[in-house]
Amino acid sequence: MRARFSYIAPRRQTRPALLRAVVVMALAVASVAFTSFMPALAANPVRAARNVILMIGDGMGSAQVEAGRQRAASVGRRLAMESMPVQSLVTTTSISGGITDSAAAATAMATGRKTVNGRLGVDADGNRLRSIAESVKMTGGLIGLVTNCSITSATPAGFVVHLSDRDMGRDIARAMVEARPDVALGGGAAFFVPTLFEHARPALHSALEDGYTIAMEMNELEVTSTLPLLGLFAMTDMPYELDRDPAEEPSLRQMTEKALALLASSSGDAGFFLMVEGGRIDHACHAMDAARLALEVTAFDYTVSAALEFARDRGDTLVVVTADHETGQLQVTGDGELVFGSDGHTDTPVPLFAEGPGQEWFDVGALDNTDIAKLIARALALPLDRSAAGLGRPDIGLVGAQRFQQVVCPAHFADTASHVSIASH
Ligand SMILES: [Zn+2]
Repeated sequence: MRARFSYIAPRRQTRPALLRAVVVMALAVASVAFTSFMPALAANPVRAARNVILMIGDGMGSAQVEAGRQRAASVGRRLAMESMPVQSLVTTTSISGGITDSAAAATAMATGRKTVNGRLGVDADGNRLRSIAESVKMTGGLIGLVTNCSITSATPAGFVVHLSDRDMGRDIARAMVEARPDVALGGGAAFFVPTLFEHARPALHSALEDGYTIAMEMNELEVTSTLPLLGLFAMTDMPYELDRDPAEEPSLRQMTEKALALLASSSGDAGFFLMVEGGRIDHACHAMDAARLALEVTAFDYTVSAALEFARDRGDTLVVVTADHETGQLQVTGDGELVFGSDGHTDTPVPLFAEGPGQEWFDVGALDNTDIAKLIARALALPLDRSAAGLGRPDIGLVGAQRFQQVVCPAHFADTASHVSIASH
């Protein structure tokens, strides 16, 4: 299906076929030569999209997508993310060029700035970095966070929280309520409820005082029709899809559909930013659990299909699907077997898919994770911190192209062994 954009769609021209072919070839050569110059971004900011949905498969490299593709094919489906017209690769390293964790990666994608592992929304010196979500909120838009991990985990937290330690779950819960996301759905109730051992005010009390509707059961999510909404459906992470009880716990897709319905009905022209994380892909890779991995990828992709249905109906919503890093140095053999090379993260570039108004800015073959915040800001014509201005390093295109060879060619895969990380999450 072709995407239908009606918001501020790029103007299209009809050309004779030969001329068109020449132009396409010329553009292809130019894009290789001048990838780092990003000519499309030289124009003055124009608000291309009203809404942005950023979907992050935690730990989802190209081989993980292949695992999901095989699982989907076994039940006669194709991956929705692979129907998206723009496909690129993203480099993921954290500030020193080292292998990233999810905190530094989320910070990079949210703020356009690299930081050290473990930090959420702050730079290497601890300075607060403004995120794309916060920029949306400052201009009157709504923001939402959905994950099947704890809502306090690094990926969602990196978009609204500013703390130097990703493991301070109860402090993150308090900071998250203070940040006032309009929708926050996931696990992590243990970090919000009162305990006997803590004097600080529990985040759940603050959320209730601030007018949040709290949903902790499936039926409470279904009947909720007001914002702000905090849904906590597990004490820590939500179950793997393979282990989920559909009568008890909502799926990632169900949470996303609810978030989209509420955000769309209340945001108006100001629009919204929604981050959706398929967080347990990473956990299945750390555990080298091929069966759970494949099902997590297809469950994430089923959620992508819901976002695409929403966006294609409206024409004003940019959908970006990517990952924070690869986990497990995964290979898919010729006969379809999944083989893990490690139980940690790697710096193998990850896939990115884009569809919707502004998609053309992602169509450069190779991006850096900091470019994601900058391009989303560009699509929404919003400012980021001045320190995050400009796109990634000039050599990103070359780095991405080299890595692409390793990703798509198994014969080169052994070369990535030296990049395996000991990062744990
Ligand atoms: Zn991990």
